[in-house]
Amino acid sequence: MSDTPLFERIALIGIGLIGSSLARAIRRDGLVRQVAVCAKSERTRARVVELGLADSVSADPASAVSGADLVVLCTPLGTYKEIAQRMAQALKPGAIVSDVGSTKQSALRDIGPFLPLGTHLVPAHPVAGTEHSGPDAGFAELFQGRWCILTPAPGADEGAVERVAELWRRVGSKITMMDAAHHDKVLAITSHVPHLIAYTIVGTATDLEEDTKSEVIKFSAGGFRDFTRIAASDPVMWRDVFLNNREAVLEMLQRFSEDLVALQRAIRWGEGDKLESLFTRTRAIRRSIIEAKQA
Ligand code: NAP
Repeated sequence: MSDTPLFERIALIGIGLIGSSLARAIRRDGLVRQVAVCAKSERTRARVVELGLADSVSADPASAVSGADLVVLCTPLGTYKEIAQRMAQALKPGAIVSDVGSTKQSALRDIGPFLPLGTHLVPAHPVAGTEHSGPDAGFAELFQGRWCILTPAPGADEGAVERVAELWRRVGSKITMMDAAHHDKVLAITSHVPHLIAYTIVGTATDLEEDTKSEVIKFSAGGFRDFTRIAASDPVMWRDVFLNNREAVLEMLQRFSEDLVALQRAIRWGEGDKLESLFTRTRAIRRSIIEAKQA
């Protein structure tokens, strides 16, 4: 444990892929003196004890947050409102409340109104993940070199924002600040719509006749396989992402549908130059992602 932990006590509400990765990184580097965890199921709570991820484990958000100077919600977005209501009165004065959710206007909307005066809300989104879930899926290096986007509301306490930023820096993330609405738009196109497309393609393939379906698995290395990895992501988490970023996702889907129709026309009319010019542009995007070490 380092001599100067960043926080005395952190409460992680939810301890799946993201929560357990954060717990592992925090414990590896001694960033917080005490880790309290709240999880819904008995099975997960028992696993947290076996894995040694926490100093205390509870089913009740109010008892987990008691005495914590930082609380981080690491649960599906649809749980935020109820958890905020249940924990609010147990927060200690000056406590910072944060989260790791994939949509940020909804975090401000669902947590903010319930927090007592004198506590501080600093929403965050580590842009890092895998298609796996649960406390066994996490690993301490998950956030290394990845962006963490902070979306505090205007006028948020600067000291609180900086303390949350420092925690994410210490687990390896690069920090950027964004307005919550802008975050939701950017993530709609970089994450949410790609997931929807993957879910759609894999869904379409599973509706094919039996003989074709078996060939889909056999020849999946042709490109399909990469979509199935994304489409294996947690169903509850992704249901909540779409329900909580409805407007931005629908706007980006509209643009995507128009571009898809344009490609359909190019194929129908044999306009190879249009196809080639788009594929050349998209190849350059892939190269810039590799250069930015985000591949
Ligand atoms: P996960 O692996 O499915 O874990 C979810 C955790 O939340 C589990 O520990 C679960 O407990 C707990 N939980 C669910 N409902 C609860 C409740 N009402 N009270 C207390 N605990 C509850 O999920 P995840 O992938 O870590 O995602 C968590 C959050 O991170 C989501 O908001 C998501 O948008 C965001 N995020 C995910 C990714 C990603 O790639 N996965 C990336 C960035 C951000 P049980 O196990 O007992 O059910």
